[in-house]
Amino acid sequence: MNNNKLGLYVHIPFCVKKCAYCDFLSFSTTDEQMRRYVDSLNCQIKNESHKYGNRTVDTVFFGGGTPTRLPVVMLIEIMDNIFSGYNVSDDAEITLECNPGTVNRDGLKALRQAGFNRISMGIQSFIDSELVSLGRIHDANRGGACFNDARKAGFENINIDLMSGIPGQTMSTFEKTLKKACNLGPEHISAYSLIIEEGTEFYNLYKDEPPVDEDTDREIYAFTKQFLGDYGYERYEISNYSKPGFRSRHNLKYWNLDDYLGLGLGASSLIGRDRLKVTDNMQEYLEALDFSSITRLEEHLSKKDMMSEYMFLGLRKCDGISRSDFLRRFGNYPEKVYSGVFEKYSAEYFSVTGDRISLNDRGLDICNVIFAEFL
Ligand code: SF4
Repeated sequence: MNNNKLGLYVHIPFCVKKCAYCDFLSFSTTDEQMRRYVDSLNCQIKNESHKYGNRTVDTVFFGGGTPTRLPVVMLIEIMDNIFSGYNVSDDAEITLECNPGTVNRDGLKALRQAGFNRISMGIQSFIDSELVSLGRIHDANRGGACFNDARKAGFENINIDLMSGIPGQTMSTFEKTLKKACNLGPEHISAYSLIIEEGTEFYNLYKDEPPVDEDTDREIYAFTKQFLGDYGYERYEISNYSKPGFRSRHNLKYWNLDDYLGLGLGASSLIGRDRLKVTDNMQEYLEALDFSSITRLEEHLSKKDMMSEYMFLGLRKCDGISRSDFLRRFGNYPEKVYSGVFEKYSAEYFSVTGDRISLNDRGLDICNVIFAEFL
């Protein structure tokens, strides 16, 4: 880890409407609330720049919610504010999450010119009935059109989010979605399975019987890996695939336990060993004058906590963890610290290649069981 580098995460908690499966911190809004929110966010960005402005920001990620629910001019205003307060490197990866139906080609062009260089698009499916069942606001055509708009606006690094396990989805409809996605040719694909979260509309419908059982879910993962592999996408994390050179640098920070600063309502940070969290109370956020008073220390991680997190986050990546990096950070080799785990699962689930220790395909299949061993 380079201690001087920092990722920025900017949370925009607004959406046109709530999707049936969503438990993210997001809600519908008004023009007035968006204006007030951006004013507070800009204040926080400025405040925090006094502390972090001397670090090299090499990734910025605007997530949500739906960041493109904000008018384009406000997104540009926030980005300009970041550029003026922080030392953003010339080659920084600057990602904007965007949902089809919330931004047009001119808007995307303006965002590209303002410095955003990566789009992450919440497509989920190219089957209309599945999009309706998820409660998404776009249809399949709009998803494809938004992708083409982003390309024409000059984005050369685009991620598409896809979802499996959608009610009513079959292997054949999932394959159609994968095929359509591959034909569009994004540089990155995130393929997640639907998780039924408490407090969502789907929880009431599917808490007792999820639309897809665990075995089918596993089959879908294997199929996805094979299918995307044939199109030149390499799986580099449990649910993430990319063309060579297009791994998500920002998300890698989470899996590598590198520092990132969260800005905006409910945003989390990891700075050294401190996990921090901004209030998720909108009123408190809008009225804050001093942002340190609404950011609490959630946890100061002990060395033992850091080591376990390093292991179970790092092993999500297909190339796993670096033994020498572990030694540098914690003063010992991982196979010494976790000898019991390595003995128990040994070569059947782990591969050791030079400096790297990773889970093989069998290990990734039961990764949650193995991750629990590091706790
Ligand atoms: S668009 Fe994303 S954040 Fe917004 S409600 Fe749907 S799933 Fe949640």
